[in-house]
Amino acid sequence: MKEYNNLIQIHKALEHSLVLPYHKIISRPIVADIVRNTLEEVRNLIKEKKIENVTTEYIINECVKSLEYAKKSRLQVVINATGTILHTNLGRSPINKNIWDNARDVNIYSNNLEYDINLQKRGKRATFLYKLISKITSFESALVVNNNAGAIFLILTSLAKGREVIVSRGEQVQIGGGFRVPDILREAGCSLVEVGTTNITTIDDYKNAINENTAFILKVHTSNFKIRGFSDSPSLALLRKSIDKNIPIIYDEGAGILDDESTDHEDIYKAFNANIDLVCFSGDKIFGSVQAGIIAGRSDLINIISKHPLMRAFRVGKTIISILEEYAINKLNNSDDAINYSKKILDESMVEAKRKASILCRHLKEHDVSVTEASVETGGGAMPDTYFPSYALSIKHKNIKKVLSDMQMSSIPIIAKIKNDAILIYTLTIDTSHINYVKETLLDILNKN
Ligand SMILES: *Cc1c(COP(=O)(O)O)cnc(C)c1O
Repeated sequence: MKEYNNLIQIHKALEHSLVLPYHKIISRPIVADIVRNTLEEVRNLIKEKKIENVTTEYIINECVKSLEYAKKSRLQVVINATGTILHTNLGRSPINKNIWDNARDVNIYSNNLEYDINLQKRGKRATFLYKLISKITSFESALVVNNNAGAIFLILTSLAKGREVIVSRGEQVQIGGGFRVPDILREAGCSLVEVGTTNITTIDDYKNAINENTAFILKVHTSNFKIRGFSDSPSLALLRKSIDKNIPIIYDEGAGILDDESTDHEDIYKAFNANIDLVCFSGDKIFGSVQAGIIAGRSDLINIISKHPLMRAFRVGKTIISILEEYAINKLNNSDDAINYSKKILDESMVEAKRKASILCRHLKEHDVSVTEASVETGGGAMPDTYFPSYALSIKHKNIKKVLSDMQMSSIPIIAKIKNDAILIYTLTIDTSHINYVKETLLDILNKN
């Protein structure tokens, strides 16, 4: 009992100079919980006679360990050195700084979110944004919801509930954590009609599946995998030409690629030229803006979707609308601020990636490091199987896992990859403003391990 009383009191620990900075970072009540739990644990250890002669320094040290752990769970800046440009785990596309700054004021003051200034009465949200999206995509009408998964769900449930949706077997994909096309269809109250095989689907497969209960054909871009070799399915254009006009064809394009001449990816302009009835895609993949599900296509269909009661649950708020509007206007004006992030990064030449890797390499020359050629990918469910040549810093070390872990635990976490028993730091996606930090942090870590 006597020993317990010697322990530092909660309120003293809470104000301790090493604990105080965490109030701002994770909030005082959460710091208090952590300090309380730590003291409780120490008391138990004393009771069980597992430790003795506990000092204040020891307790504070234990607190700081737990406080650091909590701090690392907060949303924060990390350095993406993984070689995947749009990493779903790392926030996909960063937002352009000027776009962000220009969208600020309508967020920190009142605004006309649902007020029509011209008519001087209640208005509809995001109508101007929809006009901008129509201009960008060429489609007649547009709608924006929380994310692309939400877009697909809303399309399915408002246009096909209780009816059949035809999907090729080769397109029944799982995209990232938990987004499975067949599951979403079921949840939206539609029945899935599978056609073709995993590798081959023909026009006749689609035609033969159509009956009076068919709501539409859903085409899904198989974002994160590619079937190689003997595989085939009709292009959007051929499919649209061959299928009765009364059966809409809806295309989940996924990445938001407007115009891609370099690959056979069926992008949004191709879908428009093929007379596809509706397309949908994510706002924060290749498109290059914020998390959103963007739907574009025929006005009559968009109208039905926008009137569905669930639209209220899927709609986006002022922050998303303001950033998307700003981005869309810059895009229509061909401004540098609206060059999508992955394009900007890939256009930043290999020379630049090599230069950054060389800076790191020179600074760490006492250690087993080298500049190596390493290919990067766009990620974000676009262009599977497509790699772009680039450079990385390769670090060899006897305790590679510890070095990698120390990198992640540093004050701005550096996220890298292990490949062939070396740590690869892909420099392409390291912002120039972070290079000095990476340089000093790596030197520290390598010196102490
Ligand atoms: C990424 C992706 C989705 C899911 O989009 P979210 O915006 O993450 O909800 C759906 N379909 C395709 C084809 C995708 O690539």
